[in-house]
Amino acid sequence: THFLGRIEAHDARLNSFITVTADRALAAADAADARLAAGDAGPLTGIPLAQKDIFCTDGVRTSCASKMLDRFIAPYDATVVRKLHVEGGAVMLGKCNMDEFAMGSSNETSWYGPVHNPWDLERVPGGSSGGSVAAVAAGLAPAATATDTGGSIRQPAALTGLTGIKPTYGRVSRYGMIAFASSLDQAGVVAHTAEDAATVLHAMAGFDPLDSTSLDREVDDYSAGLGESIKGLRIGLPSEYFAEGLDPAVRSSIEVAIKQFEALGATVKEISLPNSPLSVPTYYVVAPAEASSNLARFDGARYGHRAEGVKTLEEMYKRSRGEGFGAEVQRRIMIGTYVLSHGYYDAYYLKAQKVRRLIYDDFRRAFEDVDVVLGPTTPAPAFKLGDKSEDPVAMYLNDIYTIAANLAGLPAMSVPCGLVDGLPVGMQLIGNFFEEGRLLNVAHQYQ
Ligand code: GLN
Repeated sequence: THFLGRIEAHDARLNSFITVTADRALAAADAADARLAAGDAGPLTGIPLAQKDIFCTDGVRTSCASKMLDRFIAPYDATVVRKLHVEGGAVMLGKCNMDEFAMGSSNETSWYGPVHNPWDLERVPGGSSGGSVAAVAAGLAPAATATDTGGSIRQPAALTGLTGIKPTYGRVSRYGMIAFASSLDQAGVVAHTAEDAATVLHAMAGFDPLDSTSLDREVDDYSAGLGESIKGLRIGLPSEYFAEGLDPAVRSSIEVAIKQFEALGATVKEISLPNSPLSVPTYYVVAPAEASSNLARFDGARYGHRAEGVKTLEEMYKRSRGEGFGAEVQRRIMIGTYVLSHGYYDAYYLKAQKVRRLIYDDFRRAFEDVDVVLGPTTPAPAFKLGDKSEDPVAMYLNDIYTIAANLAGLPAMSVPCGLVDGLPVGMQLIGNFFEEGRLLNVAHQYQ
């Protein structure tokens, strides 16, 4: 009731929830009490959590912040939801606002309206997981799930002063998580601390036979390793991440953090990820290509919005999609269809796949010498609502530091590292495959 009360009192100004599931939450809290009394409780039993509205929730609207799915009630739970709420006994408070189909960096593409940053209501919370971070930052939920295709966990976490982790591709099941770009999408968590994130991530992660890209490998006990010393940790600073375009005040905050890591016994060296300038253009071929294919299922016939008064099948497809999808989603579908089309496939899509490999190779080489890569999460603190919404390229450049980890499939997190002009900024830690435990340990030692 504490968090439901806070949602009631404050969410009108933030717009961080699309759906609040108060009745269910109260019932789940009673069930958790019974489990606690019976001595059958786990680390999350009775803990309130919010779900990004991209995860299917049985019997509850799952909109992906799109008009297309405004009336879609999911008939089953995503694996993440099942693990957290059914098996783990966590209490679902509701479904968080987001950019439409997770496409965006400011939460302004939502059909349900933008989310406001609790640090300054005139600024964006980041995206696409803007609702998840605003809810947690404002104390409407202790932690929330989020997803990251090109930065959508780390960038909003940075802009709202939270800790957010995107695990290794394949670590958390994508079953029941509405697909944007399947080879990049990965679920994770946003919370106040690495310690909280470790507990939630541990409950979410693991092999799932229902997701063919899920990896069959034991999940480390992330919480157990948090206290380990980071003496001797080798940190790499990619020169490309500290180049032109980085706000000097953000750079200074990160330099202070680096000093603290040195004081904790870590060694720091400069490294190079020479292909990083190619990550944004590569992503904007690969992600729209996959999105155009994934979003083909929303045809007005099977689920989602159907235009009224249509006479032919083609008219139904065209009008349902034209009415149901917002401008950014339509832009991505058109780009994706174009780069996959005959005659352009080799020049764009195939080329992008090759560059993607080179971006991964950069990291592979880097991890021969260092344990973690450290840099900024975003070039600057939160911008004003409306500032970039008319300029897609300016918006896309927000993810300049985050996208490479998705293209390479690596785990990465954002950790709060101070304020610039009263607004939070984050530093990013990128680890080798399956090193989410190490990232959480490093973040916890810093915090
Ligand atoms: N901002 C990026 C995009 O618009 C990333 C989104 C995401 O990670 N879901 O595609």
